[in-house]
Amino acid sequence: MTKATALINARIYVDWHNPPVEALHLERGLVRLAGTNRQILSVSPDSTKKFDMQGMTIWPGLCDAHLHLEHLSNQLASINCEGLSKAEILELVRLKAQSLPNGAWIIGFGFNQNDWTPPEYGTAQELDAVSAHNPVLLHAKSLHAAWVNTQAMRIAGIDPKSPNLPADTFLKEKDGSAKGILLEHAIEQIAKCIPQKSPRQLANDLLETQAYLHSLGITSVHEFDDIALANALLTLNAQDKLRLRVMKNMRLNSWDLITQGDYRQTLNAGNYLRAGWLKLFADGALGPQSAAMLAPYENTQNKGILLMSEKEIESVGLNALEHGWSLSIHAIGDLATQTSLNAIERINRAKTSHNNTSLLPHRIEHIQALDPADLSRFNALGVVASIQPVHATSDHLVAERLWGERCQHAYAYKSLQDSGAELFLGTDAPVEIANPFHTLYAAITRQTLAGEPNPDGWYPAQRLNMHQALDGMTVNPARYFGTPAQTGTLKPGSNADFIVLEKDPFILSPIEMAKIKPVMTWVAGKCVYTS
Ligand SMILES: [Zn+2]
Repeated sequence: MTKATALINARIYVDWHNPPVEALHLERGLVRLAGTNRQILSVSPDSTKKFDMQGMTIWPGLCDAHLHLEHLSNQLASINCEGLSKAEILELVRLKAQSLPNGAWIIGFGFNQNDWTPPEYGTAQELDAVSAHNPVLLHAKSLHAAWVNTQAMRIAGIDPKSPNLPADTFLKEKDGSAKGILLEHAIEQIAKCIPQKSPRQLANDLLETQAYLHSLGITSVHEFDDIALANALLTLNAQDKLRLRVMKNMRLNSWDLITQGDYRQTLNAGNYLRAGWLKLFADGALGPQSAAMLAPYENTQNKGILLMSEKEIESVGLNALEHGWSLSIHAIGDLATQTSLNAIERINRAKTSHNNTSLLPHRIEHIQALDPADLSRFNALGVVASIQPVHATSDHLVAERLWGERCQHAYAYKSLQDSGAELFLGTDAPVEIANPFHTLYAAITRQTLAGEPNPDGWYPAQRLNMHQALDGMTVNPARYFGTPAQTGTLKPGSNADFIVLEKDPFILSPIEMAKIKPVMTWVAGKCVYTS
C-alpha cells in the first residue's frame, strides 16, 4: 500500500478565493484533507511520511493553456546564443560537436552580431574549425539571418565557391565565396535539410522538456503542435513516464489522420493525457501584417489576410463536432476574431438540438485586436478567450505603430474578463518563455520586465488582478481535463499537483514575483522537481 504523506507548517492556497490553510494530507496521488496542522496530524498515523514545510507557500500547480511542446523541445535541445559573445558561441558549438555523433545537426538561436566587438558576422571557416563533422545552423535573434558552416551548405547542395549564389541572400567573402551568412529564404534552403526527429528521439526530448516545465512550476498544459507530438505523448504515457497533465490539441491539416486513427478516443488515455481541441488558423500575425483587420494597418491599404471564411470555419466546425472535436481558432486581427465568432454563432445555432454535454467549449487564441462590439459575444456564445499576456508587453511598440488608436481595445484582457468571458492564460512557448511568473507579472502590470512602457503599464485599464490571472492559469484551463480528480486546486479529492515557493507571491512586489523560482514541484503526490 502506498504510504500517505502529510505536509505541515505551510501556507497553502487550496484555491484563490479562500484563506490559506496550514497543512495537507495526501494519499494515492490525491489531496485527502486540507486544514490546520492539528487536523492533519490527527488523521496521520505514525506510518505517514511527514514534511515540515517551515512556513513555505504552496500553490496548486500552474497550467500553460497554449504552448508547443515539440517546438519547445527543439529549442531546449539547441544552443541558446542569446547574450553570448562570438567566442562563447564557438566554444558551445565545439562542446556540442564533441557530444554528438558525426553528421548530427547542431542548431542554435539568438545570436546578435551587433553586440560583438567588432560588430561583424562570423564566418563558415570559424564554425568549421570547431565543428568539422557536424553541420551547424545558428539563427540570428532576428530570425532573418543565419550563420552556417561549410558542411551545412554542402548538405543543402550549396557550393560555397559558386559564383552564382545570389548576393542578396548570401553574404560573400572578398574572393566571392559564400561567407557562411545566409539571409531570408536562403535560410529555409538549409533548414529543410534537417531530418525529422525519430519518434523515440522526440519522446526522449519531451522528457527533458517535462523536467524543464516542472522546474518553472508548470504541472499541466494545453499543447498545440502536430500529430508526431501526439504519438510521442502516447508513447510516454504508455511507459508511465508522463508527469505533466497534457490536453493535446490537433491541427486541421492532419484531419484525415486524426479521424483514421480515432485520436479523439486514443488521446483520452488516462490521467495525464486527454484529447483537446481542433486547431484552425483564421489569420496570420501582427509583425508581418498578415493578421486580418477590419480597417487597414496604419498608413497602408493593407488589411492582412483572412485564411478561412466564416462559411469555411462553420463547415469545418460542424464536421469536427460530429467527431467530438470543438474548435480552437487562431485569430489575431479584429476581423479574424469577428469572423470566428460569427462562424461559432452559426455552429451553435445548428447544434442547439444536438446538446452533447461532453463537448468542450470553443475557444479563440490570441485575440490581439478586438472590435469592442464583439466583447460581449464571448460570454454570450460560450467561447473561451485564450490569451498570452506576455504578447501584450513584447508587442506594444509594434502594435502602436501598426494599429495606432486601435490599441486601446487590443489585448483587452480586463475588458474580456469583465464581459464575463472565461479566460485561459498561456505563453505560446517557445514564442515567449514558458515561465508562468512572467505571465502573471505581465497580466497584472502590463509592463515588460524592464518596466516599459511606463510605471502604470501599457493601457493599465486592461490589467488583471492576481486572482483573475491565476484562475486563468489553474481552475479555468484545468476544468476541461475530464479526469475523475480535479486539477488546478488543492481541495480534498483533487490531484496532489502543487508547487512549493519560498515566499508568498501575494506579499511580493510584482517584479520580485516575476523572479520566483519554485523550490519544489509535486505531481500526483510525488516530488518531481527540487531546486
Ligand atoms: Zn501557438
